[in-house]
Amino acid sequence: MQTGNISMQSENMFPIIKKFLYSDNEIFLRELVSNAVDATKKLQALTSMGKAACTLGDITIEIKIDEKNKRLIISDKGIGMTAEEVEKYINNVAFSGANEFLEKYKGIEANSLIGHFGLGFYSAFMVADKVEIITRSYLPDAVPVKWTCNGNTEYTIEETTKEDRGTDIILYLAEDAMEFLQEIRLLNILVKYCKFLPVPVRFGNEKKWEKAEGKDKDVEIEVPRIINDTNPIWKVAPSELTKENYEKFYRELYPYSFEQPLFNIHINIDYPFDLTGILYFPKIKQQVDFQKNKIQLYCNQVYITDQLEGIVPEFLMLLQGVIDSPDIPLNVSRSYLQSDSNVKKISAHITKKVADKLEEMFSKDREDFQSKWDDIRMFMVYGVLTDEKFYERAKKFLLFKNTDGTYFTIEEYQKHIEVLQKDKNDELVILYATNSKEHYTQIESAKAKGYDVLLMDGALDMHYINLLEQTLEKIKFVRVDSEVTDKLIEKGDNFVTKLTEEEQKELKTVFENATDKNKFSVLLENLSDTDAPVSITHPEFIRRWADMQKVTGNASGFGMDIQKNNLVINTNHPVMEKILKETDEEKKSVLVSQLIDLSLLSQQMLTGESLAAFVKRSLELLN
Ligand code: ADP
Repeated sequence: MQTGNISMQSENMFPIIKKFLYSDNEIFLRELVSNAVDATKKLQALTSMGKAACTLGDITIEIKIDEKNKRLIISDKGIGMTAEEVEKYINNVAFSGANEFLEKYKGIEANSLIGHFGLGFYSAFMVADKVEIITRSYLPDAVPVKWTCNGNTEYTIEETTKEDRGTDIILYLAEDAMEFLQEIRLLNILVKYCKFLPVPVRFGNEKKWEKAEGKDKDVEIEVPRIINDTNPIWKVAPSELTKENYEKFYRELYPYSFEQPLFNIHINIDYPFDLTGILYFPKIKQQVDFQKNKIQLYCNQVYITDQLEGIVPEFLMLLQGVIDSPDIPLNVSRSYLQSDSNVKKISAHITKKVADKLEEMFSKDREDFQSKWDDIRMFMVYGVLTDEKFYERAKKFLLFKNTDGTYFTIEEYQKHIEVLQKDKNDELVILYATNSKEHYTQIESAKAKGYDVLLMDGALDMHYINLLEQTLEKIKFVRVDSEVTDKLIEKGDNFVTKLTEEEQKELKTVFENATDKNKFSVLLENLSDTDAPVSITHPEFIRRWADMQKVTGNASGFGMDIQKNNLVINTNHPVMEKILKETDEEKKSVLVSQLIDLSLLSQQMLTGESLAAFVKRSLELLN
């Protein structure tokens, strides 16, 4: 037997491993199983090149719980190690230096750090007091060796007996790590990290029902439980896959999801970086809060994380699926990731792929694309708002939907409204409603004039409209209720009023006396005599301001009374003359109140007491 010192730059490495990485201690299993996979793949490579004088045989990696002795065993049938190799790879821990390590661990996810510092194997000491390696190299006549270490820097190495090629890692679990003797706990960890490893991983047995010869009923049998799918479809060429394959894989990833995704994108590139994956487009509901962290990141089929901030653009995190790339550095902090040029390229590439796919769908089958639009609209708007490049690409296939349910591209829409909806400054005025029920009266009234009204009812549409106004030339958005219909699009034609100045003053006073001054400003407008006598408007600018305040939670409005609406009196409506001529004050007041209430009613603003008063007054008028 030989003893020695593990050459580390710091005596205190073990306590550090334990202390700082403790919260994530379950990843020891990922590290050890990954090592087993690597060792197996190395041997696979050697045999396929004819460089190993052995047959591969069964290469299943096995995880065993030895409850009695409080041990965990990870066995592989990989390349194994000779005594010299143990010396070289295990004893000389390839730290980049203890100090560097200490400095870097700050702000770094333990999860991603372990592998990077060549600590993979040593993560075993997060859960074990003592670790043994029993290994036999694939080389003919190799002498099996046993390495033992008690979690300090001393180790022993000795010859041992081992029939088969490969490595057993034996963990003597620490008192505070007994949870890892629980089958269900271990199974969960394996499923999380190892579900798609490229070499079969067995963990105990599972029960299965099978047809037995000569028997009517199925019989229950025990079969080895293989926890992984060694050839996940993201590694398969898209040309070999069917729609069903993608759907099946989706259910494998999200067994608890009720809905099927709308469509998917298969990413498969090996140059200038290695990136594979499948992204699914879920139906994204308009108002619900975004659910992120649904994409899983893998590195050579080893699960790493579902926290993808900084790795993919914000809006793509609304998608689901997997991304696998050995080229994403996992060893660095999030803030560093964002500035890493490789990550930037990968991120941009994923965005491009998504845009490519959407454009292809749009141009190949417009009908189908439109049928999916409402479900991806939120995603699109979010993307357009947060990613300039995506917006540039998406301009071609961004769709507008009007209140009749017709879809237009931006360009098509500009053409559609070009004739009727240009104002006197030659600006295109896009009319929109944020709620087709609430704005029903105004929508109908605008449509009667030949105008088109868009439906902009998304949660982010306020920002979306701002962006469109800033980036499209000579376009402005005006909500249908922000002006009387006649004035929504300022054409420059002016009606003159039939009323004298005296009469106008009187009219204004009459209406002012009948309205709540805190809620309404009374305005006189000279409209056509067929327009509504009284209407309520919410000026676009003030309304937008108020919406902004709601978002920022700031209630002050630069002295602007953001609660106030306009009560617009059409001086040219015949009823105004009637009001002015009425000498019975009582009758006059009834008439004015009735007009105001009717306009409130048409905007669903008449409720409670006021509504009851209106109904009462209307009934009296009928008698
Ligand atoms: P890394 O895997 O990042 O190189 P590790 O500390 O996990 O760092 O492992 C160090 C080395 O020990 C590996 O590179 C490999 O050469 C060797 N090794 C670890 N586990 C095994 C194993 N199961 N079979 C053969 N060699 C192994």
